[in-house]
Amino acid sequence: MYEKKGQSGGQEVKDFHPFSGEGQFYRGALHTHTLRSDGALSVEETIAAYVAAGYDFMAITDHQRYWRKSSPDITILNGMEMNGTIRHGEAKVWHHLLCIGAGEEPYRHEQEFPMGDFDDIALAQAQVDAFTDGGKNLIAIAYPEWTQMALDDYEALEGFWAIEVFNNGIFLDKEIGYTLGPWDALLKSGKRVYGIASDDAHQSDQFDGGWMMVWAADNSPRALTDALREGRFYATTGPSIESFYVKDGVLVVRSSPCRRIVCYTGDAEIPPIATYNVSGAPVYEASYPVKASYRYMRVQCVDEDYQMAFSQPIWLEDLAD
Ligand SMILES: [Zn+2]
Repeated sequence: MYEKKGQSGGQEVKDFHPFSGEGQFYRGALHTHTLRSDGALSVEETIAAYVAAGYDFMAITDHQRYWRKSSPDITILNGMEMNGTIRHGEAKVWHHLLCIGAGEEPYRHEQEFPMGDFDDIALAQAQVDAFTDGGKNLIAIAYPEWTQMALDDYEALEGFWAIEVFNNGIFLDKEIGYTLGPWDALLKSGKRVYGIASDDAHQSDQFDGGWMMVWAADNSPRALTDALREGRFYATTGPSIESFYVKDGVLVVRSSPCRRIVCYTGDAEIPPIATYNVSGAPVYEASYPVKASYRYMRVQCVDEDYQMAFSQPIWLEDLAD
């Protein structure tokens, strides 16, 4: 992904192309429920809903029941949503961990798990470590906006790969589906964490509201999970990110028609930088010179309907020599 160096303000900056090499974008759903837990549709009906919507892959992530079985109709990533609580004094704070694997997980098909109830973060950490197995398998923190998981808990937790920055089910139920401030807080604290968008569909009208576009060599579980682990994807509720790269010290993004493209940098002195046309005409492209004071760079593309696409962060330390 990293290539020759360019120059930015006298600094040497490596080129970076997350969506390059042999491959293409595959569209997928990482978080959905069926009648196996608290969803409204059967596994077959849920698969049919994503096939009908044109998805390339999906995960079946029922609570406390592991799924690792393929389908002839769509690529299936194995998965489960693991529920637990962490105690804060008298309070028990929810945390829900989205588990995603491609066949090397320690859990078998239909294995069931009791609800986790942790006295301290160390037991939650043991759960993360057991599943991720040194990074082979992926854990994302589901809808922290809903669980109200404390920031210091996810600052303390190690080894999770992503947080859900958009959850369609929670958005439709409560209109609180976005988790953006905590994402930037984690990034500013130095955590390397990606942002995902999902449906978390429990009802038949909750499909196809938030999804992933993954740049992978092919549509196999292995290639998709490798690309997810490496951050070769964007998350969206509508707009497309067609290009996203650093070349000659400048971050370039091209998108479907948008009202704003906004760049976050992690520099405490620089508010997010918005690109737009004062005439109100749509914007399709933005570029942001890489600056040494930035910790990371990520962009949000916001369309006329206020739907959003989220790039993954580029860390400045990865662009340095
Ligand atoms: Zn869920």
